Amino acid sequence: MTYAFNQEDRIRVAQGLVDVAKNFAEKGWFPATSGNLSIKLSGEPLAFGVTASGKDKENLTVHDILVVDGNSKAIEPTTLKPSAETLIHAEVYKRVPEAGACLHVHTLYNNLISDIFFEQGKVRLQGIELIKALNIWEENAAIEIPIVENYADIPKLAAEIGDVLDPRIPAVLIRNHGIYAWGADVFAAKRHVQAFEWMFNYLFLKLSYQRGATVPVELAAL
Ligand SMILES: [Zn+2]
Repeated sequence: MTYAFNQEDRIRVAQGLVDVAKNFAEKGWFPATSGNLSIKLSGEPLAFGVTASGKDKENLTVHDILVVDGNSKAIEPTTLKPSAETLIHAEVYKRVPEAGACLHVHTLYNNLISDIFFEQGKVRLQGIELIKALNIWEENAAIEIPIVENYADIPKLAAEIGDVLDPRIPAVLIRNHGIYAWGADVFAAKRHVQAFEWMFNYLFLKLSYQRGATVPVELAAL
């Protein structure tokens, strides 16, 4: 198999993953070493750099990243192991050819929102300025993020995500697990994750407020 990328591309991808991991780590978005991140190197045939299983994303280095193919297998000998969830990254790249990076985090608010709205199969967000971060510019725009069950069988979970994803909306939520979000490059994917997380915080606090909850000062300041 011949891949159309070189060593410089791999270094750029590894550094890009380290940079985005640092940004997310500062926000506490990798509890208990969870989460995984990838950047595409080649579409045909598919290859992408991905964080290795079990590595501490809060202290990620370029040595914690391996390159895998469309079957989530390392393309060269390495002691690093791709996480089982790497299959989901591959599924996103296959279903959304324009995706250049895919980022997965388990956060408190994406878990809460995924559970509260699970029965509807999606969560709707409307009229929030940060929807523009997804490159959707119409006034009072509405978006719906699909939510899938958190199957323990990862190939089944990957297929389900592939089936429900809406190419116009760069994310899928997994119930009580986390978000997968993607973008044309790692900068866009990072912007999308940040926008979704902010909107999930907003929605949860708004729902709590509407139901008479007293919003703690530290959360109200987010
Ligand atoms: Zn996960």
